Amino acid sequence: MKTVFFDRDGIVNLPPPESEYVLSRDQFEITPAFPAVLRAVTDLGYTSLVVTNQRCIDRKLIDAETLNRIHERLCQRLRQEHGITLLEVLYCPHGPSDRCACRKPLPGMLQDAARRYGIDLTSSWMIGDRMTDVEAGRRAGCRTILVNAAPDIILPDAVYHPDHVCPDMETLKTNITAWLA
Ligand SMILES: [Mg+2]
Ligand SMILES: [Zn+2]
Repeated sequence: MKTVFFDRDGIVNLPPPESEYVLSRDQFEITPAFPAVLRAVTDLGYTSLVVTNQRCIDRKLIDAETLNRIHERLCQRLRQEHGITLLEVLYCPHGPSDRCACRKPLPGMLQDAARRYGIDLTSSWMIGDRMTDVEAGRRAGCRTILVNAAPDIILPDAVYHPDHVCPDMETLKTNITAWLA
């Protein structure tokens, strides 16, 4: 099957302030355009997964149970209020010093999901707001979309390049069907 991997903070939900984290359900606000984006990729025959780095677990700012509850609530709301399915939210709980295989820009979460669900990575996409999302997607063999308005987001020496760039989720919503069809 083909899949769209979504980054979480900044794509699925409004991003927390720089170097802060979403630590409760109240702080988790779905991006206004996200349900329509999820609907569009679902209609194109993609399954959807979220892959997110949550170092806040490693830093003991939130426990896994609370994080899982936030994610269960997200999936439930999308199902009940929008009638669309988000297959699973996968997260890396580690910090950079743990040298795990799952923390983006490493492609471990995408590769694990591919094995478990039988995903064809070459017909799949990674959508995120950081170049680490682009790198993780490219290293897994996916095509990628970068959602970021910063003019200097792609450095001149960048090794991994996105297939599409757009400034915000509203623009993604406008273009996603044409890009993924
Ligand atoms: Mg992000
Ligand atoms: Zn990890």
